[in-house]
Amino acid sequence: MSDCIFCKIAAGEIPATVVYEDDLVIAFEDANPQVPVHTLLIPKQHYANISDDVPPELLGHLFSKVGEIARLKGVDKTGFRIVANTGEDGRQTVHHLHIHVLGGLRLPISMGPAD
Ligand code: AMP
Ligand code: ZN
Repeated sequence: MSDCIFCKIAAGEIPATVVYEDDLVIAFEDANPQVPVHTLLIPKQHYANISDDVPPELLGHLFSKVGEIARLKGVDKTGFRIVANTGEDGRQTVHHLHIHVLGGLRLPISMGPAD
């Protein structure tokens, strides 16, 4: 996807602070962190979201790296949360599948009121 910002990050065409990378996935720091640890983990290949017929092997590989990202960011022992905002109601703003890895503080329980 030529106009996809995360495809461009995966291709090294726009800068990002890379935390982890292999042939299939890349993790980088969120440009607008909401919590002290806010890292995004994406497949290098473009899929709009988790409902976009992502091959199970790729999904497995992607999720298998969550623990490693947490270790690299130092939150594996303290705990963290993963989030994959999906579609309109899920408030997805970048339409390239990504997993938020959130931590570095005790996260709130509530999702807050709908608006
Ligand atoms: P979502 O709302 O789940 O689609 O999240 C998209 C996330 O991508 C947001 O947290 C943004 O701050 C983040 N983001 C957008 N552009 C960039 C970028 N160029 N580099 C790093 N993170 C970005
Ligand atoms: Zn993309």
